[in-house]
Amino acid sequence: MTNYAIPLWDTPTVPVVDGDPFPVHRIFCVGRNYAAHAREMGHDPDREPPFFFAKPANAVVANRTTVPYPDETSDMHPEIEMVVALKEGGYRIPESAALDKIYGYCVGLDMTRRDMQSGFKDMGRPWDMAKGFDRSAPMSEIHTAAFVGHISAGAVTLAVNGEVRQSGDVNQLIWNVEETISYLSGLIELHPGDLIMTGTPSGVSAVVKGDHLAGHVDGLTDLDITIG
Ligand code: MN
Repeated sequence: MTNYAIPLWDTPTVPVVDGDPFPVHRIFCVGRNYAAHAREMGHDPDREPPFFFAKPANAVVANRTTVPYPDETSDMHPEIEMVVALKEGGYRIPESAALDKIYGYCVGLDMTRRDMQSGFKDMGRPWDMAKGFDRSAPMSEIHTAAFVGHISAGAVTLAVNGEVRQSGDVNQLIWNVEETISYLSGLIELHPGDLIMTGTPSGVSAVVKGDHLAGHVDGLTDLDITIG
């Protein structure tokens, strides 16, 4: 057993349906991966290669909990996303081998301090504090690919207080799951325990304290979060 200079912290985990908890290594996110969302954010989806940002592993939040409204924003947007959990890593993974790296799938929210992000964009500054703040990645329980198969189509929706605000389909991803894994693994070596948030459909908008968020991806456990 290794001794450390300070006490070792707990590994962040996401529960697995009928399985042991999934240990989170890192959280990567794809930007503007649905055309309608790229357009609503002022970009041309046909002219951009995929780009990525990251959240800390300890940004994960368990399903069916209350997430405090974050400080330093008055325009917090939840982005509903299908999340891919990797059981194996690799560098320059070919698309043909990408699905074999996947442990399972869940529903996630890419919480965003949109006002802060807009300011950073204007100033050419990094997005980290707008995207990777504490408790910025609520996740539903992971379903294993061995049990539910691989997901290449199906509704992706976010309802706020019962009203559907975001609605799309996994088959509308500009860069599908295989392409995303392959491309990202050409930028950095992927590892077991990495989560990839695959992007959000259009309809993003602000939420406030007391709002109830119901995130859905066909075939997966719904994500139910209250903003506190
Ligand atoms: Mn996102």
